[in-house]
Parts: sequence; structure tokens; C-alpha cells
Amino acid sequence: MTKLTVPFLDLASSYRSNKDAIDAALRRVAESGWYLMGQELAAFEASFAAYSGAKHCVGVGNGLDALHLALLALGVGEGDEVIVPSNTFIATWLAVSRCGATIVPVEPIEATYNIDPDRLKSAITKRTKVILPVHLYGQPADMDAINAVAREYGLRVLDDCAQAHGATYKGRPVGALADISAWSFYPGKNLGAFGDAGGVTTNDPALAERVRMLGNYGSRAKYKHEELGFNSRMDEIQAAVLAAKLMNLDDDTNARRRIANRYLASMQGLEIGLPLVPEFANPSWHLFVVRHPERDLLQAHLASYGISTLIHYPTPPHLQTAYRQLAWPRRSFPISETIHEQVVSLPMWPAMSQDQLDRVVSVLRAFRSR
Ligand SMILES: *Cc1c(COP(=O)(O)O)cnc(C)c1O
Repeated sequence: MTKLTVPFLDLASSYRSNKDAIDAALRRVAESGWYLMGQELAAFEASFAAYSGAKHCVGVGNGLDALHLALLALGVGEGDEVIVPSNTFIATWLAVSRCGATIVPVEPIEATYNIDPDRLKSAITKRTKVILPVHLYGQPADMDAINAVAREYGLRVLDDCAQAHGATYKGRPVGALADISAWSFYPGKNLGAFGDAGGVTTNDPALAERVRMLGNYGSRAKYKHEELGFNSRMDEIQAAVLAAKLMNLDDDTNARRRIANRYLASMQGLEIGLPLVPEFANPSWHLFVVRHPERDLLQAHLASYGISTLIHYPTPPHLQTAYRQLAWPRRSFPISETIHEQVVSLPMWPAMSQDQLDRVVSVLRAFRSR
């Protein structure tokens, strides 16, 4: 095989493909003399709300803060229980812990990796307040089913959209499918800033106002502090960069979908577990995740041919040292643990070339398990 190395992703390619607009945005902010809570933020919030089909968007400092402030806005505190997926990035759990609330993990549907709506009812108690699904890898969770359970039990729903910019559920964009939605604009996300940034979207003006107040020192009017708030704001540079990049998000998402479809078509018949996309979902393909029982060997094989992959994620949250005090034994959440043992994420970014993709597939085809 010819020598062609393939990185996991090429973040700077999204700058190169949109250089003029981003350069203009950076210069505009630098020259304005206004660096926080200005018109760049207001403009990005308006366009991202419209993009998500939500009435309101509030920019905050990062995705973890977006989740945390959204939970606080929903009134979550000590003594409350929040239902979360057993397989997710740890930020989903940390946001609940930060509120002093109790984490109640629920296992996923193994084929889609997303929280299993049929397992929700048995996890609900008198203390349950919020269901917090994650659209993992950019594939929407089954929101109608989740919302129906929430309605039946009088619960609120916050969805973690950190991987799902541009994804749709039954033709509707994620971001207005729950009571409130949390976003990350971490550089590696499908819509990524030049540093940390996050946001919430919601149709509820009271929730939006409360998130904004909590993220701005618990203040609605300058030097009047109603609550013990936080400092979590999206700065003007990030807002300006994100507004410029938002213009390309649909093109980027379509490029990811083309790559995902080529991956799917070219790997049929291999002994590699492919992502299953339910009819209701049109994923944003933040990650293209495949499965193999000998995942470590497969990853080493790819690496030996210069193909970079990552594991999302190597250790489920309940087995992380950070949660040792909860003392969940191994196999507490066997579906999640099996997933974590078997998944590997293949290279995927909008500007990935056909040659790079062909290379990944041909190296995969050459893999022989023991
Ligand atoms: C990235 C991510 C977050 C956290 O976002 P940050 O901006 O890094 O704080 C939360 N949840 C999920 C599922 C993520 O992928």
C-alpha cells in the first residue's frame, strides 16, 4: 500500500475553508474595543437560536457550564435525582454532581449507543427531577419517547447537544426538542470556537433569563446580585468566530454525511460493527464510531499504517476515579462497559479527502483478527 498517513481530524482545515470571514470577525472584535457581552454575542445568539429552531440562545463559557447552569435553571439541587446515560462523556455527569444532585445512570440501546427510553420508568423515583439524554456521537436520542415519559411523570428534560450541531430528529433540528438544551463549542466540536465556549437554547424565556443571570454573577442589572452566581460568559471573539463558522455548518454537516455514507457503504460485509441509524435520526456525525471485539488490535493495526484513531470513551464515568466514592462495582452497567471496551472512532472531518477515506477503508479491510 502507498504511504498516506491520515490524521484523526484536521481542525485548521475549517479555518482555511472560511479564512476571510473568520479573519474579518477577529479584526472587527480587536478594533471594536468591546470584548465581552456586546453585539457579537447578541448576533451569534440570535443566529444560533434560529438555526436550532429555538426562541432563545444564551452564550456561556463552555459546555459543562451550559449543562450546569441549565440544571440550576430547572431548579435541580441537593436531594434531587437526575437520570443520565451510563455511557457518555463525563461532563454530563459532572454537571449533575456540581448541583449536589444524585446521578441515576440508565443503560443505552446497544445498537444506537443512546439512552434506552424503555429503561427510564424503572429508574424514576419520587426524587427524580430531570431526564438528561445525550445525542451521543451526533446521533439524536429518541426524544419523543423520552419526552412522553417525562410528561407522564411531571419531569423536565435537558438534552446534551454537545456533539449534535446540525443533527435532526424527525426532520427537526436538535436544540428545541427538550425544555432546555446545552451546547459545547469546544474547538473539536462540529461548530467549534477558538477556545472554550458553550450555550443553551430553549423556547422558555424564563429559563433563558435565569441561565443568563446565573452565568453573569447572579445579576440582571449591573451591581445588583440576586443569587450566588457564576462567571460563565461567551466572549466576543468566540461569538464572532462562531457566527462566521455557523454559515458553513450545513455544508460541513453535509460533507460529514457524505463521508459517513461512504464509510458505511464500503464496510458492508466486514466483521466490523457499524453505527445503526434509526429512521427518526439524521446524525451530525461528530464521530464515526465502529466496534470490534478486538478493538485494541484493530486500533494498533490502523496505527501501524499511519491512521490515527481515538476511543470515545475508554472508561465509562461510573468506573472513573472521580466517582470512586459512589463505589459502583464493575459490570454495574454492562452494556455501557461492553461499548467502552469495543468502540473506536475513525478519522472524520468535513474536508477529509476521498483518498484519505479510501486509505482508511483499505487498511481496515486488511485487518485479520486473531
Ligand atoms: C464536549 C462535551 C461536553 C462538554 O463541553 P466542554 O465545552 O468541553 O465543557 C459535554 N457533553 C458532551 C457529550 C461532550 O461531548
